[in-house]
Amino acid sequence: MDFKKFITIVPDWPKEGIQFKDITTLMDNGEAYKAATDEIVKFAKEKKIDLVVGPEARGFIIGCPVAYALEVGFAPVRKEGKLPREVVKVEYGLEYGKDVLTMHKDAIKPGQRVLITDDLLATGGTIDATIKLVEQLGGVVAGIAFLIELSYLDGRSKLDGYDVLTLMQY
Ligand code: AMP
Repeated sequence: MDFKKFITIVPDWPKEGIQFKDITTLMDNGEAYKAATDEIVKFAKEKKIDLVVGPEARGFIIGCPVAYALEVGFAPVRKEGKLPREVVKVEYGLEYGKDVLTMHKDAIKPGQRVLITDDLLATGGTIDATIKLVEQLGGVVAGIAFLIELSYLDGRSKLDGYDVLTLMQY
């Protein structure tokens, strides 16, 4: 399927110079959303995944249907202050300033094989922080899947040594 047909590019949003890739026009099309999910499931099936992990909020939209199809669990990565029990944290750089991502300390059992999902790979900062959380908890990152990769931002360079799937490249 030509997934790019379902992505809406919104110029200068949320600020000037950004070409925002809006995935909601893929998600609200049942056939396209299922086909994209199926591609990720196919990639994950070869990797013997025990758990899917994704950062809020669009990582949930991609990861939860994949977890359902694989019949494994899903563990959320959230911004600081959102998870109610004991967490591990990783600080990561944003364009301006810093942010913190967290996971529940008991979300992953040591040795579990994890698939990480998100909507889009840009600079790779979010996914790099997510990998650190998974590995801190003893998880093995067996694969990483995105709908979209912005190749010109070279987020891939942060993912050396990991098995990465992207369904569309810009
Ligand atoms: P990054 O940490 O730089 O890889 O990007 C983190 C997140 O920002 C991605 O998972 C997207 O949700 C969002 N994002 C960054 N750039 C764009 C873009 N051009 N269009 C849509 N979402 C974006």
